[in-house]
Amino acid sequence: MKRILRGVILGAAVCLFPGAAWANTEEEIIECSKSAAFLAPPGSPGHWQYAPDREVEVLHVALDVTPDFKARTVQGQATIQFRPLAKPVQELKLDAVDLNVSAVTGTEKIQAYQITQENLIITFAEPISAEHEASVTITYQAEPTQGMYFRTPEQGYKEGDTHLFTQGEAIEARHWYPCFDSPNEKFTSEITCRVPAGMTVVSNGRQVSEETAGATGLKVVHWSQDKPHANYLISLVAGYFTKLEDKHNDVPLTFYTVPSESKEAANSFRDTKAIMEYFEEEIGVPYPWAKYSQVCVNDFVAGGMENTSATTLTDSTLFTSATENIRTSEHLIAHEMAHQWFGDLVTCKDWSHIWLNEGFATYYEALFNGHKDGRDALLYGLYERGHQITSMSNDVNAIVRRSYDAPREMFGYLSYTKASMVLHMLRCQLGEELYRRCIKTYLERHRYGNVTTEDLRSVIEELSGRSFDQFFDQWLYHAHYPEIEASYSWDERAKLAKLSIRQVQRLSESVLLFDFPLPIRFQGNFGQVERQAHVSEREDDFYFPLASAPQIVRLDPECTLLAKISFPVPTPMLYAQLTNDNDVVGRVLAVEQLGDKRDKESVARLKRTLGQDAFYGVRLEASRALRSIHSDEALEALLASTDQPDARVRHQVAADIGGFYRDSACEYARKTLEHEKNPDILAAAIRELGGYSKPEVPENLERFLKGDSYHNELADAAVSAIRIQDDPAWIAPLLETLSKSEAAFTSRGFAQGLDTLAYLARNEVKKDTVRAFLVGYVNHKKRTIQLASINALGVLGDPQTIPVLTKFASASKESPEQHAAERAITDLRAGRKPVDDFKNLRQEVLDLEKANRDLRKELDGLKKKIDAKELAPAGAPVKKKALAPKST
Ligand SMILES: [Zn+2]
Repeated sequence: MKRILRGVILGAAVCLFPGAAWANTEEEIIECSKSAAFLAPPGSPGHWQYAPDREVEVLHVALDVTPDFKARTVQGQATIQFRPLAKPVQELKLDAVDLNVSAVTGTEKIQAYQITQENLIITFAEPISAEHEASVTITYQAEPTQGMYFRTPEQGYKEGDTHLFTQGEAIEARHWYPCFDSPNEKFTSEITCRVPAGMTVVSNGRQVSEETAGATGLKVVHWSQDKPHANYLISLVAGYFTKLEDKHNDVPLTFYTVPSESKEAANSFRDTKAIMEYFEEEIGVPYPWAKYSQVCVNDFVAGGMENTSATTLTDSTLFTSATENIRTSEHLIAHEMAHQWFGDLVTCKDWSHIWLNEGFATYYEALFNGHKDGRDALLYGLYERGHQITSMSNDVNAIVRRSYDAPREMFGYLSYTKASMVLHMLRCQLGEELYRRCIKTYLERHRYGNVTTEDLRSVIEELSGRSFDQFFDQWLYHAHYPEIEASYSWDERAKLAKLSIRQVQRLSESVLLFDFPLPIRFQGNFGQVERQAHVSEREDDFYFPLASAPQIVRLDPECTLLAKISFPVPTPMLYAQLTNDNDVVGRVLAVEQLGDKRDKESVARLKRTLGQDAFYGVRLEASRALRSIHSDEALEALLASTDQPDARVRHQVAADIGGFYRDSACEYARKTLEHEKNPDILAAAIRELGGYSKPEVPENLERFLKGDSYHNELADAAVSAIRIQDDPAWIAPLLETLSKSEAAFTSRGFAQGLDTLAYLARNEVKKDTVRAFLVGYVNHKKRTIQLASINALGVLGDPQTIPVLTKFASASKESPEQHAAERAITDLRAGRKPVDDFKNLRQEVLDLEKANRDLRKELDGLKKKIDAKELAPAGAPVKKKALAPKST
């Protein structure tokens, strides 16, 4: 699944990544982890997790369910066909949580059944012999808190948008039907669902029939998945939806949204067909299922979930055309579709190998982006991923590991981003053609089955004839990446370029010294020369004969290596690199280094880059670098660069100007509110205004707080700005808006409003009104809003809320609201002030900025004095022990 990016993140919890509408991937936090935290870990000793035994082979699962949308319950019958595998079986143990089982029947005589906290255990009168096919049918009723999610008017959702969806991964399916809930079991499945007339039912596989049941008048829809898949991929979505359709060869493509969102559906659906065409060609295996549907649901628990042939998506991926090219669903759509091969056709045997699902899906997202937008886009995407990984602190876990408490822990940047980079390195080392053959063979050999990391390795070794033991060992079974410190020098007499490479990562049991090929590119009067160094030592020197001194030296110019490389180059080289049209990553790295220099010449060059570079990503980075320089000249450069035709860059420049506290920056924000049409850029300007106490600010913020916009984006931005203002005068208008316009906000937006309200009132003497308002939401049926109100009571810091919070904290059953209440009470009892006083903090920052500017001026003056006095050349560097030149 795709995790949910919050403000942008790498997804987690169940292809629970935030795919969100943003182009970014990971750095998000798994939203679904909120609920996943309460899942029971699979029954395994200690913290080491392994696939469970399979005493029986599950052959087929048939579900017949009737949801009650008013009561938010489901009546069901689950029929499970199975066959004992190696020896006779007298007891069948199924995963089942909080299911009210009323009957169990079957082809064999059943002696009894018992229900424990996590299982349904069926005992047969006689052992069922190995290889003998049998079946059981369980009749049950459930009121699921996980696994199946209702979205109804009683909960505060729009009347005509009523629906439900299910979420299996990692181990939630057991909350709505009894099952063998582990990925190392594959079977065919079918679902019959009975819903009110007018509703749509979407599930895995092919729709077999749709008819009206005479007695009940309900619509009965029957779906069949006739190829085996894993339990966590079973999906049911039912409710009021509108549909878009397309076709790729014989594969029907459909895209559903709730009726109130149908207007924007086409924006998100549009890449689907092109992605399927590309994947079939790149992967070499035809799309493996009967159809491909995508359904956008309200308040999904993740960014997307790749249920077999029936993906579920967050409705926050939907966007209006007014956002120009800032938003796209391309990455989310590509990610979930790649899973149809990687995850669904072949499935990791247990969660320790989840990278075989998520790493591939994340990598093929990047490959499609490169296919669509060109090689520069691919390289920039890889650069960003590498940067993201090497910025992680405490990166000490291996991608493949068994030491975790709950499956959700495995859905993090290691399985997604880092694993995607490992696949990229594999592709670079094998070459594209051989890589494709390996992946095709891997998929064909294990189709409809389970895979482990070793299955992939053995196919690669078999087809390449090379040993990949070391590659897999260092990149997958051990942690981290090479941290390289590199330096370059030129010996004019010998015409030799020398590169010294040191691996400086801290070695430990989990972090090895790495062994890898390091491509090096020299450019000069001699043209372009590609070389390679084989790095395997802690410290090594490499010599390269060249016709003349190079003007540019680049390490790993094509992003073929995951590493943190520190390679400062002389300024003339940096300038040459900055304008090298054929090297997008080189230009980005030059921008980064210029951003550290901070002198006026660097600002001037960054400004030119921001205005002229051919690739938007380089312009984005130039804008960020100017913000980080943070001088008056840098702000002037940004203010002179606001007229950007590419909305992504315009958005970035607006956000970076917002990083300054100056009258001119405030004026820019104010003007943006007057002429800008793009809501994302408007939102950035609104947030920016929050940092100022000028007379025109309140009027502007109030206008947007009360105004209309898609998903209430501009009101959300006004709430963020109001929080920054941190002025109790905002309590009344905010309270009024939240009371009158709850329905206009998304759940997340409204939750932010509650939190901000409590924050503004935290130091007030009289908190009664705000307290009463917040308490009014503690039983809200939207989980996001309920939790937000409980959290907000903690933020409010009013001891009078303790009795309310105690009711939730003392509940006998563990739940997210119980945990939220416990946290809030702890905060209250500790008398903790929720957050620092923002105004003071802002003043401190301003003071620091001024001091910084003064210091820089002094430093510049000193430098000039020293330059004038000391004209002597720099001393020759100390010569290190020269090693024999290495061949490359
Ligand atoms: Zn995924």
